[in-house]
Formats: sequence, structure tokens, C-alpha cells
Amino acid sequence: MRLVLVPTPIGNLEDITLRALRALKEADAVAAEDTRRSRVLLDRYGITTPLVRLDQHTLDRLPSLFARYPTLAYVTDAGTPGISDPGAELVAWVLARGGSVEALPGPTAFVPALVASGFDVRRFAFEGFLPKKGRERKERLARIRADDRPTVIYESPRRLRTTLAELARLFGADHPVAVARELTKRHEEVFRGRLGEALEHFREPRGEFVLVVPPAPPAPPDEAALLDALRARGLAGRDLVEALVEAGVPRNRAYRLALK
Ligand code: SAM
Repeated sequence: MRLVLVPTPIGNLEDITLRALRALKEADAVAAEDTRRSRVLLDRYGITTPLVRLDQHTLDRLPSLFARYPTLAYVTDAGTPGISDPGAELVAWVLARGGSVEALPGPTAFVPALVASGFDVRRFAFEGFLPKKGRERKERLARIRADDRPTVIYESPRRLRTTLAELARLFGADHPVAVARELTKRHEEVFRGRLGEALEHFREPRGEFVLVVPPAPPAPPDEAALLDALRARGLAGRDLVEALVEAGVPRNRAYRLALK
């Protein structure tokens, strides 16, 4: 039992690696979340490997599929299987039964959105789709607000404005955001601006979206409490200045506070 995860284009059919094409050709079958969509890709590259349907509702077909096709190449609707789609469940199923899993590198929507955002993305958090409503959604949004890394969110056109409005309430309408739409497609667009402006811009959202929200600036430290705590630890003079700077107080201000 061998599963090969094959990333497929997120729009532009040229975004597929030579190795991915070979894996699709050499597999015993290609299992696809949406066979109509995958048929277009296979036809474009003259690949005649049998195509079978496999999504989260048909995972119980796996034993018979593997019995018939020992090497299955798995493709989801678009991008990398396992990123916000049923790929991860399939991987867990195969690993739990002692099968092998190979994951090919390739297209995924969040990477171009992240790097095109213009934010400092040396570290980032990937949220994928937020829970649709309720306490879970509220808690997730609160965690995003508290995170010190930029956050990547996948969103549907139907929910884009709701999510932008909630983010504007949490971060403030002036907080920056990048909204990548229809990446690699004819109407590709990367909007870079404020959350309030994004709401103005996307009045009738169409297409597929990735949001990148940079972290809120750190809250200024409560200087009086900080000074008390550091003095209680016996710090004074230069040591006190350094401790204040480490806690986020600008150096000039730290000198003034330490001398008081
Ligand atoms: N597995 C995919 C990946 O690797 O990115 C993600 C699959 S998820 C079901 C689909 C979501 O990905 C869309 O709702 C959208 O948020 C994002 N997405 C996919 N293609 C996109 C594109 N061309 N432009 C912008 N976002 C895209």
C-alpha cells in the first residue's frame, strides 16, 4: 500500500512539477477529490492513468482501492493534499495500516499569498479556514489577535466580508491586511491596505481568497509595575536599565526611569 500525495495547480495549469506529472503517470490509479477537475489536468498532460473518486465521504472505499491499485497518487481539488482538505485523514489512514506515504512538494495557495503580502514573514501562523461560528470561532479569533506572528487565513467569497469585519473589530479598522484573490488565475489580485479599506474594496467578493494579517503591535509595558517588580528583585543602575529595555521600554526612557 503506497500513497503518493501529488500537489496540483491552484489555477494556472502550468504550475505542476515534472516529478508530479511522472508520479501521476506511473501510479496504478489517481484518486481525486473531484474527478471532473482532475480530468482536465490529466487530459492537458496526456495522462491516461485510471482516475477514481476519493473524498472525505468515500474514505471507506480505501481497502478495495488499494487492493486493486497498490500505488495510489492522490490529488485534491487544488494545491497540496493535506493543506485544508481531506488529504491529512487519508495519510493517517494509510500510516495506521503500515502503508507508505510520499509527499511531493508543489503548489499551495498560502505560500504565494504570504510572500507577496510584504509583511515580515520569517515566522507565521497558518490557520486555514476558521470555524464558521460559535465559541470555537471566537476563541480562534482571540488567539489570532494575541499571536505575535502574521496569520494566514483561507476564506470563501461568501464569508470574506464577515471575517474582515470581525478582524477590523478586533485589531481596529486601521490595522494592515493583505488579501490575495484568485492567485495564478486571470483575475489575480493582491490587495494590500487596511482592514477598513479591504471592506470597502471587496464589496461583492468573487473568487478564492487568502488573508494575511500581521500581528498587533505589542502593548506598551506598564512601566510603574515593571519598575516596582525589578527593584524588588534588587536591580539598580545599569542592570535596571538593561532589564527595562529587555521588557520593551525604549532605552532613553529606561535611563530616565532608572534615575528617578
Ligand atoms: N490544498 C489547498 C492548498 O494547498 O492551498 C487548499 C484547499 S482549500 C479546500 C481551498 C482554499 O484555498 C480556498 O477557499 C482559498 O482560501 C484557497 N485557495 C485555493 N486556491 C486559491 C487561489 N488560486 N487563490 C487564492 N486562494 C486560493
